[in-house]
Amino acid sequence: MERTEFGENDLRLCLETLDRIEAKTHGMNLKYYIETYGCQMNEHDSEKLAGMLVRAGYTKAETKNEADIIIFNTCCVREHAEKRTFGNVGFIKELKQLNPRLILGVCGCMMQQKEVAKRLFSRFPFVDLVFGTHELKNFPSMLEKLLDEQERIFRVTESDGEVIEGLPVERAPGFATFVNIMYGCNNFCTYCIVPYVRGRERSRKPEDIVREVREVVAEGYSEVTLLGQNVNSYNYDGMTFPQLLRLVHDEVPELKRLRFMTSHPKDLSDELILAMAELDRVCKHIHLPVQSGSDRILKLMNRRYTTADYMLLVEKLRAAVLNVELTTDIIVGFPGETEEDFESTCELVRSVGYANAYTFAYSPREGTIAAAREDQIPEEVKKERLNRLNAVLASTFPANNEKYIGFEGDILVEGVDHRGEPLLFGKLSNFKMVYVEGDKSLIGSFVPVKVDGLRFNSLYGHIVKTEA
Ligand code: SF4
Repeated sequence: MERTEFGENDLRLCLETLDRIEAKTHGMNLKYYIETYGCQMNEHDSEKLAGMLVRAGYTKAETKNEADIIIFNTCCVREHAEKRTFGNVGFIKELKQLNPRLILGVCGCMMQQKEVAKRLFSRFPFVDLVFGTHELKNFPSMLEKLLDEQERIFRVTESDGEVIEGLPVERAPGFATFVNIMYGCNNFCTYCIVPYVRGRERSRKPEDIVREVREVVAEGYSEVTLLGQNVNSYNYDGMTFPQLLRLVHDEVPELKRLRFMTSHPKDLSDELILAMAELDRVCKHIHLPVQSGSDRILKLMNRRYTTADYMLLVEKLRAAVLNVELTTDIIVGFPGETEEDFESTCELVRSVGYANAYTFAYSPREGTIAAAREDQIPEEVKKERLNRLNAVLASTFPANNEKYIGFEGDILVEGVDHRGEPLLFGKLSNFKMVYVEGDKSLIGSFVPVKVDGLRFNSLYGHIVKTEA
């Protein structure tokens, strides 16, 4: 497969096309609505689609009913994703009848699976536009063609992917945002569809990343998460991820907090642990997906580390990075998982003491190695194991939380929680959530707090008065 390049000329053509659309539709008060499924990668792609639509003169619609273009940005990772997406798309038929100028587009990872995309395109003749993950750059020309010719467009191409710089972005409002540092994945974990729908790894230039971080800080964001399927394998002309982390930290001193996600354990280096320990504005939290506590299953998953390797990383992180917290992803019921394998996962969870974990029952993804295995685990067994694992996790939380009583640190206030008496909530640098009493005018600011107790799987405290 060829890797294509997106250069300055391509960007100029994109922007010119968007400006042409704006001129042609000026005064029509067109609105867009984007529904996004799945991970932060998709969220960020939707921000780029929104950015292009805004440049083309569209404004954001609050509901689908008032939109002139609706885009479903799909995901194929979650269970029953196809059924759900087809159901949601089917509902739009009625809106198309009410508003004949409404454009309906479907994109994202699920549409990069060509057979699924074809099925959707032929089942729903009222879908105007289907495009895969490698077509974002062609969105302006496809939109212009649709507006001019009203002919349906299907565009799904196989590609290793490319790095696209300079497209407008309309970020979700808030205080924390994401900046992509790389795209794609080379790892081919046997359960995962991502390498097939997002292409091979390609890293952005460090200077483009620093420029974007500066821009979002100037827009008012206090916290940036550097994003990639496996940030630890970032490599641009020999620059490694820990070097990039130091660069962003030092070049953008106005940035209050710097996070990163996701780290593959096989590539987590001592150099990164050192950078986390030394850089004061790098958050003391790491999302380190373990997936299983059984070496046999890890091997079948093609994860390329053992539980001993993983536990050594946990030990090193805890020794070097003060107050570090870990979160993880775990799959139960991978094909061939025995009761003994599952018990090993529970044991690992007890030993690590995660701050939180995202747990899933394995569900096959068409086209992956694991999906073709014959030793699939029955649904009821997967469900039962998932419940048991969640109970084990819940039993580890109190001990993890209790050690924070009396702890002092800063939270970035994110909002007001209305379960019971309204309380402000925000996270410490290490991702622990703290609830405190306070005025909602504090939303968006950093507030020093002291932890007094526990609330759900989180902490409860009070704002510490600072000397005037
Ligand atoms: S590292 Fe594995 S699980 Fe993560 S995106 Fe790549 S293939 Fe999928």
